[in-house]
Amino acid sequence: MFRREFIKRSLQISALTVFNKAWGLTPLPPAVQADVIIIGAGIAGLSAAKILKNKGLSVLILEARGRIGGRIWTDKSLGFPVDLGASWIHGINKNPIKQLADQFHIKTVPTNYNASQVYHPNGKLLSGSEENQLYKRYDGIYRLLMDIRRKRMQQRLPDISWQQALDQVLSQQSFNANALAELYFALNTEIEHEYAADLSQLSLFNWDVETPFGGSDHLVLNGYSQIVENIVKTAGLTANILTHQVVQHIDYGSASGVQITTNQAVFSASRVIVTLPLGVLKANTVEFYPALPKAKQVAIARLGMGILNKTYLHFPDYFWQQDERIQIIDSISMVKGHWAEWLNSHYYTRQPVLLGFNAGQHGSEIEAMSDGEIIDEAMQTLFQRYGNDIPQPEAQLITRWGSDPFSLGSYSYIATGASVADYQELAKSVNQRLFFAGEATSSDHPSTVHGAFLSGLREANKVWAITNKR
Ligand SMILES: Cc1cc2nc3c(=O)[nH]c(=O)nc-3n(C[C@H](O)[C@H](O)[C@H](O)COP(=O)(O)OP(=O)(O)OC[C@H]3O[C@@H](n4cnc5c(N)ncnc54)[C@H](O)[C@@H]3O)c2cc1C
Repeated sequence: MFRREFIKRSLQISALTVFNKAWGLTPLPPAVQADVIIIGAGIAGLSAAKILKNKGLSVLILEARGRIGGRIWTDKSLGFPVDLGASWIHGINKNPIKQLADQFHIKTVPTNYNASQVYHPNGKLLSGSEENQLYKRYDGIYRLLMDIRRKRMQQRLPDISWQQALDQVLSQQSFNANALAELYFALNTEIEHEYAADLSQLSLFNWDVETPFGGSDHLVLNGYSQIVENIVKTAGLTANILTHQVVQHIDYGSASGVQITTNQAVFSASRVIVTLPLGVLKANTVEFYPALPKAKQVAIARLGMGILNKTYLHFPDYFWQQDERIQIIDSISMVKGHWAEWLNSHYYTRQPVLLGFNAGQHGSEIEAMSDGEIIDEAMQTLFQRYGNDIPQPEAQLITRWGSDPFSLGSYSYIATGASVADYQELAKSVNQRLFFAGEATSSDHPSTVHGAFLSGLREANKVWAITNKR
């Protein structure tokens, strides 16, 4: 009752303006109504807004944070650009993000995953042939896992996790501690880091659903945020974006349109495109009235929201220079999933920076640790590699995407028991009023920037097709 009264009263624009002034917030634009409201100013929301604005519709984007970009976030506090979210354009062939980068004259550089080094836990660098052997053994296990998958699918047995399949393989082979650490290292860097989830969470049947564009992966130089900033600039979207608007309630039950209540005001629109991250949808921090259809709720619950966290360490100098061409520096850890993969940022930026990744379980664990504890743990790996007399970092940037209330995770994955149909379910519109975009609605390219971008285009075109018919 109270909320509905509040909504009615809040619709008075003058009251809103007074409210905003009282709190020293940017005054709201003269109208809080729009043809289309888009929730979230990540790449999905911005790509949708660009199309709809271009068609002549009035568009408002409500964004909870004080910045645009969402999981595309370039930080400049170290004095140079550092990407805390996405870094790579995955597969440049016909990739719309590469096309945007080219159009905006944004520099990108290919990553050569073979330009890598692997360190043993005892600090020894693996020789080329040792590395080859490690990956040969991994390929053998991988083939056995895929055999289990094929047989289970043929026999119509239920899905299991990667870990359950691996346990079957391991029960028939004996591995000493080193060989096991090497196997888990390969699985961690090849699978868990890519899908931001543990082997115990990932579906064996449906983990590799994406349709790759092909071509190499390119890292965006000088910050991925350049892409979103240029979209906003070239589409003239600045005035359409309202920041610090935390959407709390979406009422799509009325025949006249959709009402959205934020922490600051109430807005209304004929149609709404929701680009909330899967983590936010899972947490139910945004209330839908009426509740979302059961099938959509099931899909939200079934899909997984993974964790990949980044730790940038800025050192006083580039002490780890061995081979100038090395881009990836890996470490086999005796503790599964700890600090296995590092990017030699110096290769790309010429700054004395190392970037450590942690995914899945350890990615989650570090979120509860202080910066100091995380650095100490990271440094243990570096001491093993480079000796105890290396300098301490003079600055660090550490992400905690799982604790970020406007993301609650890094990107989606297909959890055991889920399938690509769940992504398709999430993409379905409701009552021709509520539309859903974002990486977790892309069945061809989930978990990626290009998937999110294309989902925004997809939903904008759906909205336009309906609007245009009337
Ligand atoms: C660490 C990390 C590394 C990654 N690396 C890559 C990579 O190299 N390449 C790649 O292709 N992809 C990568 N990704 C994935 C990629 O960043 C995402 O798939 C993509 O940016 C998602 O875009 P989106 O628009 O769907 O969601 P988002 O960017 O999350 O946008 C959703 C927006 O909704 C807003 N929001 C949330 N709650 C509310 C609310 N209640 N009210 C109003 N607004 C709200 C958020 O603030 C956000 O701005 C990475 C992600 C992470 C976290």
